[in-house]
Amino acid sequence: MREIHDVVVIGGGPGGSTVATMLARQGFSVLLLERENFPREHVGESLLPASMPVLAELGVLPAVQAAGFLPKWGATMLWGRDRTPWSWHFKETNQTYPHSYQVWRPQFDQILLENSRANGVDVREGHRVREIIFDGNKAVGVNYQDIAGQQRLANAGFVVDASGQGGLLGRQLGLRTWDSFFQNLAVYGYFAGSKQLSAPDENNIFIEAYSQGWLWNIPLHNGWASVGAVVDSVTGQEGLHKVGAKEYLLEQIAQAPAMSQMLANSEMVCGPAVVRDWSYVCQPMVGDGYILVGDAACFVDPLFSSGVHLALMSGVLAAAYVTSALKDPGIAKAAGVVYEELYLKEYRHFRELARLFYSSNRTAESYFWEARRILDADDSLSPRNAFIQTVAGQPPRGYERAVLGHGTLPPAFVGSVREVESERVRRGKWFEDELDNLHNLLPCLAVGARLERKPVLSGGEFQWGYVLTSLNRPEGTECSSLVAVLLSRVDGRTSVAELIARLQDGSDQPQKGQIEQSVLAALQILYVDGVIVDSKGAG
Ligand code: FAD
Repeated sequence: MREIHDVVVIGGGPGGSTVATMLARQGFSVLLLERENFPREHVGESLLPASMPVLAELGVLPAVQAAGFLPKWGATMLWGRDRTPWSWHFKETNQTYPHSYQVWRPQFDQILLENSRANGVDVREGHRVREIIFDGNKAVGVNYQDIAGQQRLANAGFVVDASGQGGLLGRQLGLRTWDSFFQNLAVYGYFAGSKQLSAPDENNIFIEAYSQGWLWNIPLHNGWASVGAVVDSVTGQEGLHKVGAKEYLLEQIAQAPAMSQMLANSEMVCGPAVVRDWSYVCQPMVGDGYILVGDAACFVDPLFSSGVHLALMSGVLAAAYVTSALKDPGIAKAAGVVYEELYLKEYRHFRELARLFYSSNRTAESYFWEARRILDADDSLSPRNAFIQTVAGQPPRGYERAVLGHGTLPPAFVGSVREVESERVRRGKWFEDELDNLHNLLPCLAVGARLERKPVLSGGEFQWGYVLTSLNRPEGTECSSLVAVLLSRVDGRTSVAELIARLQDGSDQPQKGQIEQSVLAALQILYVDGVIVDSKGAG
């Protein structure tokens, strides 16, 4: 039997349910095929505040709150130079959402999937997709096995692969590249009777570095704690082979003094499970008639609990992409490139941050930590570029500040951090000194700065807009049409006064004043960010 839908989504995890809900709300007919029957087990309990706006947008926040999951206010770590645990709190960087949740994934994922159903998605559990069907290079549907074991075919205008680490399409098309830096594996289980940290950090995730890797302890609302060890994949596999997963996990815990104390009177009540083969990127993430979402597209080491956030975020972006591609095929190719750029920007942020953390730890000495100290072993990123990719040219905040404060970084890297920060401070000071002379400045684009017309996100779709790229922001930043017009006219010969006059042409007096204010404010940001310089050599 053949059926036809606008979109088929493979997988009902956070990525799949998000993209399906958003597309159904746009009025598309969406079929979601999930091989398991929910609630199903899944690791990954600790959420980031960045997920909260997406949960709000999906309309599931009340249900998530009602589930009673523990609010998570930050992270506590035994990591870096310090021999005692230190904490940092989300409120340092996120005033709107100063907390997230430690969720029980079977329940959390079910809330999201039921929400898809409530929004009109045709959700079918116990249905396994076997293969994505192509007509030439275009994905046109899927072959799947229904709950009764019957082989079926569903045709679709678009196929969304949200099949998680299994990565159906990535494997079918050979799109995966493995990350040589994160050659780790995890063994984890659930413990009853774990001690919690003392207030106010009792709901924090606790992370302890020890000689063979690091351990996590995530308190859960059902009284259990999710506890896991991340170790080198080769030595880990040897250990697992020798003593079995449970013994191996207990051996790892025994080597970490703080974790041992927390778990002294506990017992493992669920698990253990082992996850291998992680940290990869699929490219391209978008092709003719298909898109990859969440772990199906890429996965980075779980150190920063970024997986669910990346899945939700890419689900929202993918829904915008599919909407745009189905409505206006003319924008599809360019918007697909932007989808991949936006996803990789967020992925790289966590990857570089995790690499920094690994390379900066001095709590424990061993092969594991030695091997992870070389920042540039696997790619051509200079320390300066690594830093810029990590913090996007901004002063370090949150985790970034923590790694710089508690870790021991390679001297070249520390030098780059200082250089980037002092350049910014110098440009800011230069601009302040020029305040009386602003109208006479002759701005031009700095080396490496570029303005491009590209698809940008707007109202749940991709539409044409402007993106600015510079050496300090290689990933690009969307900019307003005023900034775009301004930048298209800076040539090192036209003064700020002339630029303002041209932009004011035809406006009435109050508008003229507003334009001048907006241009001067934009110029300040552009000078301080290093997007423009003064052609007389200053700035
Ligand atoms: P998934 O949640 O894996 O969902 C994919 C779904 O697709 C599954 O339900 C699966 O059954 C279904 N599926 C697969 N194949 C098929 C098929 N052929 N047909 C139909 N359905 C199919 N993230 C965090 O945010 N916080 C953490 O603390 C955290 N800790 C982690 C610890 C470890 C050890 C690991 C490995 C990961 C951790 N993560 C964490 C990552 C997080 O679990 C994932 O990033 C997240 O679940 C990704 O969501 P997803 O929707 O892309 O994939």
